[in-house]
Amino acid sequence: MSGRTEELAANLASLRSRIDAARAAAGRTDQVTLVAITKTFPAEDVRRLAGLGIEQVGENRHQEAVAKAAALADLGLRWHFVGQLQRNKARAVASYADVVQSLDRESLVTALDRAAAERGRALRVLVQVDLRDHEGDGRGGARPEQVGALADLVAGSAALELAGVMAVAPLGQDPAPAFARLWEVSVRLRRDHPGAGWVSAGMSQDLEAAVAAGATHLRIGSALLGHRPPLR
Ligand SMILES: *Cc1c(COP(=O)(O)O)cnc(C)c1O
Repeated sequence: MSGRTEELAANLASLRSRIDAARAAAGRTDQVTLVAITKTFPAEDVRRLAGLGIEQVGENRHQEAVAKAAALADLGLRWHFVGQLQRNKARAVASYADVVQSLDRESLVTALDRAAAERGRALRVLVQVDLRDHEGDGRGGARPEQVGALADLVAGSAALELAGVMAVAPLGQDPAPAFARLWEVSVRLRRDHPGAGWVSAGMSQDLEAAVAAGATHLRIGSALLGHRPPLR
């Protein structure tokens, strides 16, 4: 094993123990799916992670994601898109993504649906929920009260499969109440869409709170890959 592979293996082992401890503390016996968020890290790191058993990876920028997905096409990974999605990129994202976790507005639904139909296989979609308790700037998710309408639109589309909800905990706040709100949104959603049971919540800093609040999918970057240089 290369030094980097050993480092990733050690990170993955501690991450898995953290997740198991969080599941035990929450009394959960169901599985929690790990999605490795590999943004800013090279494709070779993703290949190393695949060698260590990681099957699902996520990216938040289309240019970077499309390049990595192409370079790693032999691995059979599942690609999640977790970043802000522009309508003119929807078709390109649907060419490699298995899951779009960041659907936050109606105008994206038609574009994604058409793109998924063209490639001939279903595209799973999560509605991203804005958990901030004040009116935000419209980025980073639909308001909880908008989720129902957006979900109905996805469910009624031809080639999109409504899988559930996703959220990022608001910065600088206790994540527990935010994740509890997300769980309520999910419960409401499942009344109309019983198959839409995914709850994607929890990152490196707050995965314990997310597991306690019922998260089915964790999106983990730095705890697995290490410190990321600041992006902006
Ligand atoms: C970067 C990112 C993550 C992973 O964050 P870490 O704190 O590095 O675990 C999760 N979700 C989204 C949407 C991200 O952009």
